[in-house]
Amino acid sequence: MQLRGTGVGAGIAIGPVLRMADPLPEPSELTSDRSPQDEWVRGREALAATAADLAARGATAGGTAKDVLEAQALMAADPSLGTEVENRVMAGATAERAVFEAFAGYRDLLTGMGGYLAERAADLDDVSQRVRAHLAGVPAPGVPSPGHPFVLVARDLSPADTATLDLAQVSAVVTVDGGPTSHTAILAREKSLVAVVGVASAWSLADGDRVIVDAGRDTVVAAPTPDELTDAEHRIAERAATAAAPIEPGRLSDGTPVPLLANLGSADGAAEAVRLGAEGVGLFRTEFLFLDADRAPTVDEQRSEYVRLLEAFPGRKVVVRVLDAGADKPLSFVNDDAEPNPALGLRGIRALRAAEPVLRDQLTALAQAEAETSAELQVMAPMVATVEETRYFADLAHELGIRVAGVMVETPAAALIADRVLAIAEFASIGTNDLTQYTMAADRLLGTVAGLQDPWHPAVLRLIGEVGAAGAKAGKSVGVCGEAAADPLLAVVLVGLGVTSLSMSPSAIADVRASLLGYDRADAERLARAALAAEGAAEARQAVRIAVEAPSA
Ligand code: PEP
Ligand code: MG
Repeated sequence: MQLRGTGVGAGIAIGPVLRMADPLPEPSELTSDRSPQDEWVRGREALAATAADLAARGATAGGTAKDVLEAQALMAADPSLGTEVENRVMAGATAERAVFEAFAGYRDLLTGMGGYLAERAADLDDVSQRVRAHLAGVPAPGVPSPGHPFVLVARDLSPADTATLDLAQVSAVVTVDGGPTSHTAILAREKSLVAVVGVASAWSLADGDRVIVDAGRDTVVAAPTPDELTDAEHRIAERAATAAAPIEPGRLSDGTPVPLLANLGSADGAAEAVRLGAEGVGLFRTEFLFLDADRAPTVDEQRSEYVRLLEAFPGRKVVVRVLDAGADKPLSFVNDDAEPNPALGLRGIRALRAAEPVLRDQLTALAQAEAETSAELQVMAPMVATVEETRYFADLAHELGIRVAGVMVETPAAALIADRVLAIAEFASIGTNDLTQYTMAADRLLGTVAGLQDPWHPAVLRLIGEVGAAGAKAGKSVGVCGEAAADPLLAVVLVGLGVTSLSMSPSAIADVRASLLGYDRADAERLARAALAAEGAAEARQAVRIAVEAPSA
C-alpha cells in the first residue's frame, strides 16, 4: 500500500516504524493549590531551563539547525511571553496551564499572519511542550532511541528534534504535517536525511511495521511486497554507488555539458560545495547576508564578503544575485512599507529601484571584489517582469563596472517575453520556486496549496521551454537555480527544454550528476515532450517515469 506525501531529496530507506510519542495533553488542572509566588517560581525556572536546553542543543547542532534552535531558545526566554505566563499564574492558574495558554495565544497570532510566520507556529508549540514537560518532570516529548535503526513517524517533527537526530539510528523520517518549507524539510535536506513530509495517512502506520520510504517517488510503501523490497534494495545500492562515484563535470551521456553549480547563502558553505563537486556558483543569495541588519551594509563590508566567496572559486563562474528583498525576506533598509500582498509588491528589482543607492553600493562592491579575484563574476537581478527593468539593471550594472549582467526569470511575464529580455540581458537564470508560485497563483510558503507548488506542472514547463528556446536563439545561457534543478529526473527534463546549467543545494549534486549521465540530448528532449503533453504535475512526473522505461523513439 502506498501512502503519498512530498519527498525531500531523492533518498530511499527501508526499516521498521517507530512513532513519536503523542504530545502532552492540554493541562486540565486550571487553578493551583500553591501560592501564586511559588507557582511563578516553577514557571520561571521551567522557561529558563528550557531556553538553556535549546541554546545548548543549538550550540552542538551547528548550521541551519543552530539558527532554528537559537530562535526557539529566544522564544522560551521572551520577556513578553514570560509576563503572559506570570499574569496568569498571579491570577491563580497552575504554571502548566499558564504556559499552555500563553504559548497558544502567541501561536494563534502567528498562524493568523499566514505564510512563513504560520510555519513557525510549530516551533512555538514545541517550546510550549518542552516547558510543560519540564514542569511535569517527564522527558520532553521527543525521538525514541531503541538502539537500532528505524523509520521515525511523527505528526510534525520539531526543529529541535530534527536538528539533533541520531543519523545512525534514524534511517528516515515521515511526517503527517509539514509543507515543503517547514523546518523539517529544510533541515532534512541539509542533513541528507531520507524524508517524506505531509503524508496525511502516516499515523495509520503502527510501531514495528516495515516500510519503504521513497523520497524520490514521494511515497511511503507500507507492507511492501518482496518485489518492492528487492527494487528498493537495488536502488539503495545504486545511490550508494552514485555518492561514491568520481566527481566530474555535469554532462549528458553524449557529452553535452551541463554545468552543475551551487546555491549558496554565505561564503561559509563554499568549501563544502567545492568538495561535493560544484563547478561554480549559480545563485548566491546576498539578502541572506543581511537579514538581521538594520542599516544598509557599506561598500567595504560587502566587498569583503564577496571576496571571500569569489576566492573559493578561482577561474570559475560565480553568479551573484543582488538583494532579493521583500515578501518573506524583508530587509529593514530596503522595505519600509507593510504591504497587504508582499509577494506581489515591491520585491526584488522593484524594491531596489526604490532604494537605488543600496543597489549602486552593492554593484560597486561586487565590481571591486571581482577586480581582486580571478573568479568569473556574473550578476543578476531578481523578480524582473519587463524589458524596461532588464535594461535598467543591465545599464546600471555595466555603468558600475560589472562585466556580465543577467536576470532571473521568476515571473510568467519575463518567461513569455524571454526573447526580448535576452536581447538585453547577457544570461537568464530561471527561479522555479517563484516561477511556479506566480504561474500557479499558489503561495510558495503555504502548506495548504503545496500541491499546486509543483514545478512539474506543464504550465511551468511550457514557460521554461519558452526561455530555453529564446536562449538557444540568442546564443545565451539559461540556467535553473530553483529547487527544480535538484530533482534528478526533472533536471533531465529541464535540459530537454533548453536549460544549459543547473544550480542547486550542494548535497543534491551527486544525484543530479548521475541522473544526467543516463540520457543523451534526444532522450532529454523526448522526456520533455512527454512532460509537456501531460495534464498536470503528477501526470507529467508519471509520464516521464513511463517514458524513461520505454525504448527511445
Ligand atoms: C526561485 O525563486 O526559484 C529562486 C531561486 O529564488 P528564491 O528561492 O531565493 O526566491
Ligand atoms: Mg525567487
